[in-house]
Amino acid sequence: MPPGIAPPSDSTTSETLPASRRVHVVGAGPVGLLLTALLQSMEGFSVHLYEKRREYSRTRMVQLAPYLVADSVESYRTDYIDGDNVEAIFDPQELEEGLAFRKSIPTDLMALLRQWALGFCSLNAIERAVSDLIDARGSNAVRRTLGVVSVQDTMAMLEPEDILIDCTGSRSLLRDHLAPGSVDEGANTLNIRLEYALVVTFLYGQMYACNEYCKYYKNVENALYKFIPAVHRTYYDGSITHVTGIVKITAEDYAAMPSRFDGPWLRNNFPNVAESMDRFIDKVKQETHGELLGNLEIIRIPLNLYRARNATSRQWRTAVPGEHPFANTPVFLVGDSAIGSPYFQSISLGFECAMFLAGLIAQRDLPLRDMLDRYELHIYKQWLRVYMRSKMIKHNKDLFESLDDPLALLDKLHIY
Ligand SMILES: Cc1cc2nc3c(=O)[nH]c(=O)nc-3n(C[C@H](O)[C@H](O)[C@H](O)COP(=O)(O)OP(=O)(O)OC[C@H]3O[C@@H](n4cnc5c(N)ncnc54)[C@H](O)[C@@H]3O)c2cc1C
Repeated sequence: MPPGIAPPSDSTTSETLPASRRVHVVGAGPVGLLLTALLQSMEGFSVHLYEKRREYSRTRMVQLAPYLVADSVESYRTDYIDGDNVEAIFDPQELEEGLAFRKSIPTDLMALLRQWALGFCSLNAIERAVSDLIDARGSNAVRRTLGVVSVQDTMAMLEPEDILIDCTGSRSLLRDHLAPGSVDEGANTLNIRLEYALVVTFLYGQMYACNEYCKYYKNVENALYKFIPAVHRTYYDGSITHVTGIVKITAEDYAAMPSRFDGPWLRNNFPNVAESMDRFIDKVKQETHGELLGNLEIIRIPLNLYRARNATSRQWRTAVPGEHPFANTPVFLVGDSAIGSPYFQSISLGFECAMFLAGLIAQRDLPLRDMLDRYELHIYKQWLRVYMRSKMIKHNKDLFESLDDPLALLDKLHIY
């Protein structure tokens, strides 16, 4: 057992792994769990899943993108910005192969994906459902280890023929260790800071739906600190609307705020931001005659658009063959550890990449070199897709901020 890791939890332990290829998945968030469930259902692999958290406690409401469960190229490209990007970046054959893999996903897992693509779901409900599914499957038990995994642990756990997959999220464990040279934080990360923002979530006791007109008119008197509900993040569950949106803040505001707080803290410490929020919510109330339920939940985050420059360990193989553990064992980044954007459905993207990698791993006669190259290329294409969409949305957002100031607006436009 790697040093520093607690004994496996009781529920899903199998002391000896079957005589098959071992895959280590570090991080049992949504993406690590989905990948585990996919590999578990393939013959010839034994999966060892590592997670540091005891409980799934993240309750934020998330939605899966419909493209995730698409069954045709047309339905894969229905989003009006993303659809064009997908057509420009991917070859038709690649899209067909992706769809063919989806069709091979076991029905128990596919049923969950279809259900989540219909509406909103809490993040921990997704995590618990996939985790329970993994445990409930009778065959090919997944070995689980509860505890923090370090970089040294990952190197110590590896044996020839193993595969190591990092699903540890945006603060990836291995991202900066995938290439020879510097292991400084960010050495292998391209990061574009789009802005700093407050993510504000509240519950409202009536049906409320938002669109671009709503965003504009409810912010007309807010010269600064406009609250922008994410259209796809307002969700009416039959009695309550869940609303999530963002407010752009300055770097100085960001530095002066705690990472998480509520409405009263905002009113006491940043009255200008609170007034903008209150004006927005008052207009919602005037229109729909409801009340805010409970408090505002607020976190402050930097909105980062980023990617790992290397999403695999292929550089170790060519630079120092045989000398480093990662030169002999393929390492892959999947999910937020590989790519992230605040304006993209990141879980769906992570699931997409997990499906692609599972499809590669399933091809047991695929030379390792090809597997690494194909995964790198796929991640790069997904990055282009995310980059293009995210930049477009950021640009639209910047224009929106200046709608009432034609000169400022024109300053931001480049026409022809
Ligand atoms: C406010 C907010 C709202 C969001 N809304 C949406 C949305 O509507 N739709 C959407 O698609 N996405 C949304 N996202 C993004 C989404 O939550 C992430 O994309 C998703 O959680 C990434 O999944 P992941 O499995 O790659 O990483 P994570 O969810 O970060 O999971 C990583 C896992 O690895 C474990 N781990 C980390 N380090 C170690 C270690 N050293 N040892 C052992 N275990 C470790 C962690 O405990 C965790 O369980 C939102 C994010 C935020 C912050």
